[in-house]
Amino acid sequence: MSTPTSKAIGIDLGTTFSVIAYLDANGKPKSLPNSEGDFITPSVVFLEEDGVLVGKEAIKAGALEPDRLAQFAKRDMGEAAFSKPLAGELYPPEVIQSFVLAKLKADAETKIGPFTQAVITVPAYFNEPRRKATQDAGKLAGLDVIDIINEPTAAAIAFGVESGFLNEKGESAKTERVVIYDLGGGTFDVTIMEITGQEYRVKATGGDVYLGGIDWDYRLVELIAQKFMEKHSDLDPREDPVGMQRLLREAEDAKRSLSQRESVSIIFEHKGEGIRATLTRQAFEHLSADLLERTRFTTQTVLREAGWEWSDVTRLLLVGGSSRMPMVANMLTKLSGRAPDASLSLDEAVAHGAAIYAGVKLAQGTSSNTPQPTIQNVNSHALSVLGVEAATGRPRAQVMIPRNTPLPVNAKSVFQTQKPNQYSVVVNVVQGGDASGNNSTPIGRCVIRDLPDGLPQGTPVEVIFRYRSNGRLTVKARVPRLNIEATLAIERASGLTDEAIQDWDDYLTEKRQPPPLPGSKNSKSGPPPLRPNAKTPPPIKKR
Ligand code: ADP
Ligand code: MG
Repeated sequence: MSTPTSKAIGIDLGTTFSVIAYLDANGKPKSLPNSEGDFITPSVVFLEEDGVLVGKEAIKAGALEPDRLAQFAKRDMGEAAFSKPLAGELYPPEVIQSFVLAKLKADAETKIGPFTQAVITVPAYFNEPRRKATQDAGKLAGLDVIDIINEPTAAAIAFGVESGFLNEKGESAKTERVVIYDLGGGTFDVTIMEITGQEYRVKATGGDVYLGGIDWDYRLVELIAQKFMEKHSDLDPREDPVGMQRLLREAEDAKRSLSQRESVSIIFEHKGEGIRATLTRQAFEHLSADLLERTRFTTQTVLREAGWEWSDVTRLLLVGGSSRMPMVANMLTKLSGRAPDASLSLDEAVAHGAAIYAGVKLAQGTSSNTPQPTIQNVNSHALSVLGVEAATGRPRAQVMIPRNTPLPVNAKSVFQTQKPNQYSVVVNVVQGGDASGNNSTPIGRCVIRDLPDGLPQGTPVEVIFRYRSNGRLTVKARVPRLNIEATLAIERASGLTDEAIQDWDDYLTEKRQPPPLPGSKNSKSGPPPLRPNAKTPPPIKKR
């Protein structure tokens, strides 16, 4: 008897748009449409009193009640709560993302039947808490996340297989040196990668978490508002939430049209007044030249960090919906001296690559002689332990794993206890920041408790980091003198605890309903949403 073959599913859980794809009977990646018939689903959630809307419908509902609308939740993955309260309550970002995943899953199942296993993609720079949060979001949506892979890696696999520089197992005939330029809706990423056979080696990554298509939209919002106020000087449409929504929609429409045409006419109405204007592509490019320049500068910097020249590069891949703007390819052609490769499905490439990877992964599960791509990542931020300099008593960040180190990697460093008779040792793990630990992000802390009496000052404490290829980090602290090895779990600095995930999972599985909202009748039954004063996450940068 044959066991039913698992479906190979890949999901691109994007900041602004998400895509789900599978491998069809011929092993070809295909995007699956949602219930509205679209292949890309806005990563937008609207919490109703007694239900959840996701995607286009959420956007529509949100235009009237913006306080129930969640957008850009991906930016907050790994934080304790989504930065914007929804109807007055804070929710974990993984719960919001799980609603997006649950819609993708349910809609896809109407086309290809039930499944649970899937590969989900994350940005290359996602740190450990953010990866864990993504995995948890999958779990909450009823998915068995067989692996998490980086978006640029997935894109390279999709491009490679589609254009033939990789075979269907993701194998290259010769060494390819690839630059992946991904300009999405709210983020920009550059990745430098070498592919030899089935070995994917990331050389360097970089980017900007606050740069994407939305910034181009805002340039047009300003322009349209200005033109409107030239005629109706006492009426600023930006000050009215509904006016602002309309401005944004008009701006994005115009932007998209300008990717096809040299000029568009803009019609904008607000409170009974209207204007009509013509906008040329040239004027648009002029208005946004500094944004494009930021991506040029980052691309050049990351290439240099990889130690490459443009002449070393064999492929220059464009990913992300915003790479459709002709200014992107023009700039890159000038910069690199070569025409970039753009596939037909710029915004589907990541999901397609994830589906191909899921296929290879599942085949590996059934027969051990199917070779599998190995992916070597680098860490995009230095990982350090915060300590105190013995001589000066000043804080010092001891770098354990420098930025852009190939993964997996193990690192060991020996610290000392600060005082005599210390009963516990705390290892504070941070990422990024300077030598004194300023501007670093806490990742978690390892604590050894219940040390015996009489431990002298300066007792060596060994700290061991194990950083795996998928970006997950394990930290271990040891006091060798006591001849005991304390195995410690990282106390996460943020994100959901295992119990909290279980609570949410029970709640969502039993009810398949939204978490309770204040004043609703089920507010007693589920785990309560986080209170704004419980643990307020750092505010996200305002544009
Ligand atoms: P994500 O950030 O979620 O990965 P995508 O890669 O799907 O998002 O990119 C979404 C962005 O691409 C949006 O800002 C959208 O306006 C922009 N975009 C999509 N199509 C076009 C187009 N034809 N011209 C210009 N921008 C586009
Ligand atoms: Mg994307």
